[in-house]
Amino acid sequence: MSKNIFSTGGSGGGSQAFQDWQASNTQGFYINLKTQAHGMLHRVDCMHVGSPSEWNPELDVTSSTKVCHPDRSELLGWAKVEHVDVVECGTCKP
Ligand SMILES: [Zn+2]
Repeated sequence: MSKNIFSTGGSGGGSQAFQDWQASNTQGFYINLKTQAHGMLHRVDCMHVGSPSEWNPELDVTSSTKVCHPDRSELLGWAKVEHVDVVECGTCKP
């Protein structure tokens, strides 16, 4: 399973890695984790999440992790295994 997890909480560089992943997976999906147990599902091309500013640690102290996958059903399968409660973004309607 080619799942990718990007986070600002780790060693840094997560923002660029996430942008790169989006650029090469334009039909993909990702879950923006608000907590360990709650996240929101987005399309890669969602206008409202994933901009570099969101990754600024000065602005986002919660450092939201992104879990990315090219396949929607596999991504939701991951969330189920991890007991993550997922809601769908109302903007990009994934
Ligand atoms: Zn969205």
